[in-house]
Amino acid sequence: MQAPVPSALVLEHVSHAFGSLQAVDDLSLSLSPGEVVCLLGPSGCGKTTALRVAAGLEPLQRGRVLIGGEVVADTGRDLPPEDRSVGLVFQDYALFPHLTIAANVAFGLKGLTAAERRARVLEALERVGMAQSAEAYPHTLSGGQQQRVALARALAPRPRLMLLDEPFSNLDARLRNKVRDETLHVLKESGATTLMVTHDPEEAMFMADRIALMREGRVVQEGTPAELYYQPVDAFVASFFGEINYLEGIVDTGQVSTPFGMIDAGGLAEGTPVEVLIRPEALRLGPVTGANGSHGAVQQAVEVMAARLMGRTSLIHIRALDVADQETHFHARVPGRFLPPENERLRVDLDRSQAFVFPRETD
Ligand code: ATP
Repeated sequence: MQAPVPSALVLEHVSHAFGSLQAVDDLSLSLSPGEVVCLLGPSGCGKTTALRVAAGLEPLQRGRVLIGGEVVADTGRDLPPEDRSVGLVFQDYALFPHLTIAANVAFGLKGLTAAERRARVLEALERVGMAQSAEAYPHTLSGGQQQRVALARALAPRPRLMLLDEPFSNLDARLRNKVRDETLHVLKESGATTLMVTHDPEEAMFMADRIALMREGRVVQEGTPAELYYQPVDAFVASFFGEINYLEGIVDTGQVSTPFGMIDAGGLAEGTPVEVLIRPEALRLGPVTGANGSHGAVQQAVEVMAARLMGRTSLIHIRALDVADQETHFHARVPGRFLPPENERLRVDLDRSQAFVFPRETD
């Protein structure tokens, strides 16, 4: 029988404190070979610290780190970064200004002949489309090009693991999209297992096979982007992936009343105070026809307050009466151009797969 392939990276119950501040709190995470996993979360939630512990840049305080099945950090053992076979990419590229691009990429290559080093450098630069700049100096390159070189430098020694910390955040929006796209393809083609830190949910969804969403040092939910988006475990996860309409209610006969019809309370006990989170794209708008909606629910009419084209989607501000007959303001997002006039009455069909009910948090 073949031995099972070990995980490319395992963090086991890792905790890390700076004085009294618990930056990482009992974090466990496992990456399969070739996987791209994003550590996502708001600023200060401990993403970078977790990545630095994995890299060996931060001494292990509690837990265990394994790379390719080998224990690299445990009680009494803490291999330095250069002995962990990891490729590191940071947001500031960190190229040596006095070395050519080729010399920068060659820097971490050990135990090879000059010819082998040269071949490896060119292979890495070709992979990121920068071979023509091998003899240039970093200051002559754009930010996007420098980040591609940083990626090549990290990949050149063929590390077991790539660790990327906010690698695109120094690039302007247009360039960021391009470099992000290139990086994803380079990583996938190289077969490198990657752990990437980002605070940007869209970036994580773009890059990741799996996302681990962190809050206050802990992983709140881990799964594919689709799992986190469509099956969030709590209101924090649901609202992290973009704007959300928020309502409060009480469970009554297994359901919660909203201005857009009743929705299932997911088995919560009768009388539980709940919060209802509805994504703007869950509010499907159409002309008032008098017939029943497509989900079998009675159609709910709302009034348009304003409509704005946002590019790929239109954002419609709508007014509806909530359960207490209070006028409430919601946002609906519709693909393409949809700009109904102010005060027009529209029908709303609620897509219940994008409406979430959670017990209300007391604070
Ligand atoms: P960001 O995206 O803002 O970098 P993050 O999620 O990566 O946030 P960390 O950089 O890991 O978070 O920081 C987690 C917490 O630990 C923060 O409160 C931060 O201020 C604190 N922290 C990080 N490094 C140190 C340090 N060297 N000394 C003291 N506190 C630190």
